[in-house]
Amino acid sequence: MFISIIIPCYNEELVITETYKRLTTVMLSLCHKYELIFINDGSRDQTQAILQTLAEKDICVKILDFSRNFGHQCAVTAGLNHCTGDVAVIIDSDLQDPPEVIAEMLEIMKKEQANVVYGVRKNRKGESWFKLFTAKLFYRLLNSLSDVKFPLDTGDFRLIDRKVIDQFNQLDETNKYIRGLISWMGFKQLPCYYERDARFAGETKYPLKKMLKFALIGLFYFSKKPLNMATSLGFTCIALGVLYLLWILISMIFSLGSAVSGWTSTIMLIVFFGGVQLLTIGVLGKYIGNLFDEVKGRPEYIINKKVNF
Ligand code: UDP
Ligand code: MG
Repeated sequence: MFISIIIPCYNEELVITETYKRLTTVMLSLCHKYELIFINDGSRDQTQAILQTLAEKDICVKILDFSRNFGHQCAVTAGLNHCTGDVAVIIDSDLQDPPEVIAEMLEIMKKEQANVVYGVRKNRKGESWFKLFTAKLFYRLLNSLSDVKFPLDTGDFRLIDRKVIDQFNQLDETNKYIRGLISWMGFKQLPCYYERDARFAGETKYPLKKMLKFALIGLFYFSKKPLNMATSLGFTCIALGVLYLLWILISMIFSLGSAVSGWTSTIMLIVFFGGVQLLTIGVLGKYIGNLFDEVKGRPEYIINKKVNF
């Protein structure tokens, strides 16, 4: 069996050598042929230079060097587009996903004839409470909104077979939410539970802004419920409006007094309906923006250089 390991790297000069060593040790112990595809996602540090040195010494090391930073999901996509393995593993470069788990994943795949073995985090060390809380909340929210059900507490760390890789390479969505797309494909998918370590060195390359963008792609590409919710909100407002109108009419006819002294309620209505309208336009706009991205059909990434391919 030929195994491709896909490792996206963005400014990872502090960890990349250690990652290479740990992965190589694991792969040699498995006695399969393998390739380590490092995707340099436009790093501005020494990542590319270090990878270059590794690639000169070891033919198993292959590099896809991007022309700029395109993002984690684009890097993984490039890896899957270029890998030639019978199976592929997607793994982070910061050693949060222990390479040793790959052996376990292969075992499960072989024993159960699975097409996908995805890592489920039993424990996440070294993450802020904010990240843990928002991640938990997001995955549950996504599951409640989406028509596809996703396994909880699961990242992109997973083993997939050639059938799934080929299917994946046929998708032409510009903005990909990879873990979701692979779940959506079906086939036989099984979990592999593992302890997620703390980052080996350096800091997270997923600041809040990137995390939010990623979460919104997951949400808006896998669910049309926000549109339905906007419609429901509209109907609720109409119903409340009709009730309020009736109240105003009645109080005017029977001179209950509230028909004239209405400044507070007028301002409240303007603010409330202004908010509702902006929100629903925003939701609509998000879908139109996504359509815009997809219609342009730009490539997801641009490769500056390929090494050892
Ligand atoms: N990464 C990338 N491009 C980016 C951001 C991140 O290739 O724009 C890589 C990064 O080098 C790492 C993986 O994606 O291998 C996950 O990123 P990180 O560990 O910073 O995210 P976290 O684990 O904190 O969510
Ligand atoms: Mg990480």
